[in-house]
Formats: sequence, C-alpha cells, structure tokens
Amino acid sequence: MTTTDTLPAETFTLPELPYQLNALEPQISEETMRYHYGKHHKTYIDNLNRLIRGTRYQNAPLEEIVINSDGALFNNAAQAWNHTFYFLTLSPDPQMVPDGELAEAIKRDFGSFENFKKQFTEAASTLFGSGWTWLVKDHDGKLKIVSYSNGGNPLPHGLTPLLGIDVWEHAYYIDYRNARADALANHWDVIDWKVVGQRYKGL
Ligand code: MN
Repeated sequence: MTTTDTLPAETFTLPELPYQLNALEPQISEETMRYHYGKHHKTYIDNLNRLIRGTRYQNAPLEEIVINSDGALFNNAAQAWNHTFYFLTLSPDPQMVPDGELAEAIKRDFGSFENFKKQFTEAASTLFGSGWTWLVKDHDGKLKIVSYSNGGNPLPHGLTPLLGIDVWEHAYYIDYRNARADALANHWDVIDWKVVGQRYKGL
C-alpha cells in the first residue's frame, strides 16, 4: 500500500452554502447555481484533490497552494478558492450598501459608493475573455479594483481580497446569454456588504 492510498478520498470539499440554490432568483437562477456551484465549482475541487495527491501540497492549506503553485494546480486551486469566496459573498437578503469603516474607505478611495460601482462595472465589463474582477485592500490599507484573467487571484500579488466577481461566461450565460453588462447590473442586488465589511476589518 502506498501512502497515497491512505489519504482521504476528499481533502477539500464543496462548501455548504447558507442559502438554497433557488434563493438568489431572479438575479441568479437555480439552473445557473446547479451548474456553477454544483458542477463547475465541484470540478475545480475534484481536480484540486487529484492534483495535490502525493505532492508536497497534499496537507497544505488552500491559500498556501494558491500563493505558491502554478500551472494546472494553480488554476484549479485558485478557482476552488475564488468560487467559495464568491458564493459566500452572495445572499438572498443582503446588506445592500457598505457601512462603517468600509463605507468610509470606499468614499476615501473612490469618491462615493456609486463611483466605486461604476469603476468596478467598467473593469469587469472590459476584462477580455474569462476572469475575475476584485475589490482588494493593499499593504497600506488602500482599496483598489484589479482584474485577472482565468483563475487569477489577488493573494499571490500580496493583496487582500474583499469582493470577487466571476465574469466567466459560465457564471451568467444561462440567465443572461452574452449580456455580461446586464448580469453585472443585477449582481449588485445579491452582494452582501456585511460580508465584505467583515473581510475589510479582517474578521
Ligand atoms: Mn465560475
């Protein structure tokens, strides 16, 4: 028996969501959730578990794999992380606007919440092909909007992710077909700023 035979079949698992798959309708349909969470996200996690087996990453925390790996392992580890982060930002009963320290920081760095949404939407709309647009906090505590192609993630860049929006077509094509702008416009209605605010405070 090799050591890999004794490892649990699943090192990482699909996270449970604090809402039903139809709870984000009409902005995000149950069918999209069945594919996006139930199939795409699950596949990244299955691939990740397969790729780390027998490597130095087999007992590593996911963040460590995202920061240090490359190639297929990075792609699947980052996508596993990104999707968990993304789905846990969403809520059927969200706090619609930031408050407290995060609200002040957004006003300081973008002028206003409306201006932030405009800049974020512009970045997400113009990201060519598949990828993610993020609100991040840098080393000095300054807020920034960054976009990365494919499974790109802020952690290897030394940035703290606060909000990540998936602009892969699989995130919106069932509900919005090619209209990424419409998907983004409706997405604001299901983002829970309470969660984003807790991340800002490092909770
Ligand atoms: Mn996705």
